[in-house]
Amino acid sequence: MVAAGAADPLSGAAGPLAAATREGPAGTPGIYLHCLFCLRRCPYCDFNVALYREDRIAPFLDALHRELALYGREAWASRTAVESLFFGGGTPSLLEPAAIGGLIEAVARTFPVQPGAEITLEANPERLTRERLLGYRAAGVTRLSLGVQALDDRVLARLGRGHTAEEARRAFGAARAAGFAAVSVDLLYACPGQDLAGWGRGLAEVVGWGPEHLSCYALTLEPGTAFARRPLQDLPDEETQLAQYRAMVEGLGAAGYEQYEISNFARPGHRSVHNQRYWRGEEYLGLGPGAHSFLGAVRFANLRSQLRYRARLDAGLLPIESWERLSPAQRLGERIVFGLRLAEGIPRTWLAEGFAAAPATLERLLARYGEAGLLLAEGERVRLTEAGRLLADAIGADLLPAA
Ligand code: SF4
Repeated sequence: MVAAGAADPLSGAAGPLAAATREGPAGTPGIYLHCLFCLRRCPYCDFNVALYREDRIAPFLDALHRELALYGREAWASRTAVESLFFGGGTPSLLEPAAIGGLIEAVARTFPVQPGAEITLEANPERLTRERLLGYRAAGVTRLSLGVQALDDRVLARLGRGHTAEEARRAFGAARAAGFAAVSVDLLYACPGQDLAGWGRGLAEVVGWGPEHLSCYALTLEPGTAFARRPLQDLPDEETQLAQYRAMVEGLGAAGYEQYEISNFARPGHRSVHNQRYWRGEEYLGLGPGAHSFLGAVRFANLRSQLRYRARLDAGLLPIESWERLSPAQRLGERIVFGLRLAEGIPRTWLAEGFAAAPATLERLLARYGEAGLLLAEGERVRLTEAGRLLADAIGADLLPAA
């Protein structure tokens, strides 16, 4: 146990952050590697990305390996079995298969990786040939997450994407030809210039491809993005967005996909192991510029600037910029809010714990939402109904534990 106030030689930090990085996860964590580069910045994107340049790749990979090696010095690394590894970004598929393979090998040298662990690579259709995909498979990638977003070239252009619908079709075909048996497709609805019929056509075509998993999110105008700065004239109105959501739930349900999370759909046996960790409030370690981690009760984030990230590693220190220790009530609150997004819902005991001082209030809330057809409290679990999912954020906020 690192005493509160004692500085950690790896992070240079003291107190709870030092304890979290020295003691490691209590359970089996997921590992996230942030691959920073994209060919361009999409006007709706607020992720930490940098423009791809050939000469930036080697220093970036070197830094990522050094960050991993720092964690490898900790005693907990060798006793921590990893069940999921996720290459996110950015556009990880801009990295060569040999680079992805080198990182997978480095992770496996640092932490024992469970047999059959899920290893996901996010990919964009650009440059995604069968040969490249064969390389990723040979490197150990088991699951591909393909950023299709739309199958209408006019909508893709409005989204500032760098690929056409035809390139997305070819990329999915190439993934199958390379032998990927677990492919997830990302789609966006509520996009500029996208009506209900257009959304339905794209969705139906993707369903026809037969992916094992779909992630379908409504486009949001995140502060600081180009879309948030200049008003969009041709966004679908609220009624259309709702109709798009309903068409998605109905169409994907009829095609045999389970809506296991509000925006995520899977064929049996194909839920995302890694992303379920986030929704269940479980631990994960994030590596790379701007990556977030959650170990023990401490959440921390790496430096976002690749130069500052690398400079910290050059000094032999973990590149952590900020951290916070969640109180038991905050942690419980997060598990309630995210857990309610899942079809499996949450244990009723979590709510009982959060409302220990006001059990009558909890019973009143559960009765009110139950009567409104928004929530089901059955036996030991509480979950949202289909109607309740549309109000998940508001219901989650009501069910937060008292501070
Ligand atoms: S490709 Fe993805 S990560 Fe890159 S800028 Fe576009 S939305 Fe953001």
